[in-house]
Amino acid sequence: MDNLKCNRLTCRKALTEKAVVTTCSHIFCVDCANELFNASRLCPACETSLTEPDDVVVCSLHPSNDYKTSVLSGLNPTIILEICSRAMSFWQYQVHQEASFQHAVYRNVNEKNAQLQKQLDNVIREANGEISLLNNKIAELERDLELERRKAAGLQDSLKDRDKEYQKLKVLMILSHCVRTITGSTPSTGTVRQDQTQSPPGTQRSRWRDRCSWYRK
Ligand SMILES: [Zn+2]
Ligand SMILES: [Zn+2]
Repeated sequence: MDNLKCNRLTCRKALTEKAVVTTCSHIFCVDCANELFNASRLCPACETSLTEPDDVVVCSLHPSNDYKTSVLSGLNPTIILEICSRAMSFWQYQVHQEASFQHAVYRNVNEKNAQLQKQLDNVIREANGEISLLNNKIAELERDLELERRKAAGLQDSLKDRDKEYQKLKVLMILSHCVRTITGSTPSTGTVRQDQTQSPPGTQRSRWRDRCSWYRK
């Protein structure tokens, strides 16, 4: 980890130049520190009371060489080591906190992922159920359609048979009519007899042909 991050959860900006550190081992960006510590002297991360002057200190994260030379100069080596030890503890605590934060984020993402996977499974299951129902309905409709087709074919055959019967009856009726006309089925009527006597035989035959010609067509 190259840079610490502002400990305010809504900020978490990477700290590169200046930062504000507290004696409770927390660190904030300057903007957040100005906002938070003006309102209260409680640490926003752990709510420790920070009332002493050195409890909240602005520090440079990239100190100049002159600063590095002078900051611990003149101090007893024991104090120097103690300062270094506390600074190292501060860093370790921050690294540990960051790891915990990332772990919590990872766990949260995993839980959300598991929830979404469950929802997705439910959606897929419901969709598969609906597809199955629709497939059954399609199969049922296809069966009904096939039955209707068969019925229609049966009706068509029946219609053809009846049409044939009708044509036969029509022929018989016409033949019967023609036979009656030729044989003079009404000899008792004076009109027919008059026609027979008045018309030459050739003319009567041609009339019969005229009457029956439409049938031959
Ligand atoms: Zn911040
Ligand atoms: Zn704190």
